[in-house]
Amino acid sequence: MEFDLSTNRKLDIPMSAPDLTDEERAAVMEVLGTNRLSMGPQTSAFEAAAASLVGVKHGVAVSSGTAGLHLCIRAAGVQDGDWVITTPFSFVATGNVMLYERAVPIFIDVDPVSGNLDAELAKKAAADIIDGGSAAERWMPRKGSHGEGKLKAIIPVDVFGQPANYDVLQEIAETHDLALIEDSCEAIGAEFNGQKAGSFGDAGIFAFYPNKQITTGEGGVIVTDRDDWAEKIRALRNQGRAPGDTWLDHTYLGYNYRMDEMSAAMGGVQLTRLDELLEKRAIVASLYAEGLKGMAGVETPVLLPSTSRMSWFVYVIRLDQGVDRARVIHRLSERGVPSRPYFSPIHLQPFYREQFGYREGDFPVTEDLGKRSLSIPFSGVMTPNQVEYVCGVLREVLANT
Ligand SMILES: *Cc1c(COP(=O)(O)O)cnc(C)c1O
Repeated sequence: MEFDLSTNRKLDIPMSAPDLTDEERAAVMEVLGTNRLSMGPQTSAFEAAAASLVGVKHGVAVSSGTAGLHLCIRAAGVQDGDWVITTPFSFVATGNVMLYERAVPIFIDVDPVSGNLDAELAKKAAADIIDGGSAAERWMPRKGSHGEGKLKAIIPVDVFGQPANYDVLQEIAETHDLALIEDSCEAIGAEFNGQKAGSFGDAGIFAFYPNKQITTGEGGVIVTDRDDWAEKIRALRNQGRAPGDTWLDHTYLGYNYRMDEMSAAMGGVQLTRLDELLEKRAIVASLYAEGLKGMAGVETPVLLPSTSRMSWFVYVIRLDQGVDRARVIHRLSERGVPSRPYFSPIHLQPFYREQFGYREGDFPVTEDLGKRSLSIPFSGVMTPNQVEYVCGVLREVLANT
């Protein structure tokens, strides 16, 4: 036994943990024995493996998921004043990459079950905005919409590893000729009606920060079937060097968003273990579902029928209305159980409020989820004992809060 509930001994349960073996360590060490630490064979192999996982032509490895999203915004031709439809219930990077290009995020509220972008609402918004009449106003932020933008793209997010509604999202993108960029940073390996997340749009992005399902330390990858996007993204990632440019020729304004060889080697091994890693996470999730079943004050995550494969990223419960979440977080932490509100809505971050005039009440479903969601410790290496401990402590805390 690592600990005992009855002795009330405080334990430190990690919020998340990577799942690494000697194979990852050996792969990184092998790179360190060579002179190629960047732009080498490990990166190409990792990119090919990522593309083949999703069943598309190209993978482009980058320095983070955020960098990947930003490059897709550039590939979609999103510019100053353009509009991009997205969700306020996500990690802040989803919105920020638009702001990097001075574009205006058009936030659409989410589906209360999955927390994913409400695709039917997005369909209505896209039609109203393209139509350009007075109905378009309803979807615009109070400030900073310029009044003369152009709707260019739609960026759904596969929240917590559950795919968005790609049937409807693809229809919207086709109808209005919009770029569809999948923020699948939380959903590598997930499937919507049997098809892989990352394969529905013009491009999809996966992220590899240490709390994600697979990790490279820092890193991300863009997967796409589009030759033109892959070429542009490769150039922008590498300081704007187009094919044929020398080291000091820069056709475009680019970035250094490259992934290094050590990260790619580590990611390559992690990718070969993806099924195992996702299976271990699914087991932990089902242990939680069992341990939390019927617990007063708590709702557990719900999978939609379209989610033919869930890629568990985090385990986020919802506390009943009226439960004092801040107090629950504090009491849990006293017992060695970390937890976090997740997500904190993007539109309520200070600089979004200031720049676009968003305020409380603008997106009620997102705000309700934002107030009630609690991410509890989760990883593929959590033991049944640890899950039991977290559930036991949570039960006690809720009974006394
Ligand atoms: C993790 C994440 C990102 C960004 O990934 P980084 O690698 O941390 O830059 C973007 N979007 C979502 C939804 C994420 O969860």
